[in-house]
Amino acid sequence: MKIIDMRSDTVTQPTPEMREAMYKAEVGDDVYGEDPTINRLEQMTAERLGKEAALFVASGTMGNLVALLTHCQRGDEVIVGNRAHTFVYEQGGMAALGGISPYPIPNQADGTLRLEDIKKAIRGDNVHYPRTRLLCLENTHNMCDGAPLTAEYTAQAAQLAHQHGLQVHVDGARIFNAAAALDVDVRDLLKDVDSVMFCLSKGLCAPVGSMVCGSAEFIAEAHRSRKVVGGGMRQAGVLAAAGIVALEQIAPRIAEDHVRAKRLAQGLATIPGVQVAPVQSNILYFWMTDADSKTQDKIVERLAEQGVLVLGRLDGRFRAVTHYWIDDEAVERAIDAMRKALHLTRS
Ligand SMILES: *Cc1c(COP(=O)(O)O)cnc(C)c1O
Repeated sequence: MKIIDMRSDTVTQPTPEMREAMYKAEVGDDVYGEDPTINRLEQMTAERLGKEAALFVASGTMGNLVALLTHCQRGDEVIVGNRAHTFVYEQGGMAALGGISPYPIPNQADGTLRLEDIKKAIRGDNVHYPRTRLLCLENTHNMCDGAPLTAEYTAQAAQLAHQHGLQVHVDGARIFNAAAALDVDVRDLLKDVDSVMFCLSKGLCAPVGSMVCGSAEFIAEAHRSRKVVGGGMRQAGVLAAAGIVALEQIAPRIAEDHVRAKRLAQGLATIPGVQVAPVQSNILYFWMTDADSKTQDKIVERLAEQGVLVLGRLDGRFRAVTHYWIDDEAVERAIDAMRKALHLTRS
């Protein structure tokens, strides 16, 4: 039985073209700046995102941490959404490792932070306060139904931040999904911000790696931050080679995953008792109108027995994520499996 793994887009296996490119990759010592494949990936990425420079890092979490360590000094404060990955899912790394305190403000349902809330959170010049240094946005927003932040919103938030002397970082783990969802160039979503991190290892299918981008000066400093967190890798061009294929071959097709997520949502919505959140990119949240948590666990199990893997979430919702390895047939099989799983748990 072919397993349909929709727990996340992090489960994506490298494509045959990626494995081929990895095998053949020319490599060197990247801490000395001598890995030609990494240098090429960094250059391509910077161009693609409309930034001066880019840096290859081991993971998204490392990329966000490196960016925050580069923007902030110990004791500085970062304004961040209360449902942001950087706040909820990174072990408080900014505080634990960087001495940076987060100032969480409410994420709206569409993933945005209200401009009034941002404004209120910016500290004045007072010896009692930490210094507000950075605004951190997330695009697409994982916990807010995979919502994309528009270029207009990003520009407004960035303008406000810059007026008050703050820098702006975008956790763009899925920034290519955001661009596809809004049908805009990824540069439009980033032109007003100072730094961005995105993952090669999610919907872009590469096995390992994320990129941090910004000005040449910022990236030069980010090199130091990467080294101190142990992220200076050597012949990592074998990994970057897959990243190049990801940008060239996978990024342009990512909108297909959104079409499939919508089809999945449509199919699930026809099942009595299933509620589906609006699908905005490749992330789909759904829940039962009447299920307790025990039933939820059972549904996850019954789906798994049929070869369909989804995440059962703590907040009473399930998450399914579409990606390169989820084709039309997989979507139809998942809908059938859900129908059966519900029937079995109810009978
Ligand atoms: C996955 C994710 C990250 C972290 O990436 P890892 O490679 O898993 O460390 C950061 N931000 C968001 C929004 C993510 O979804």
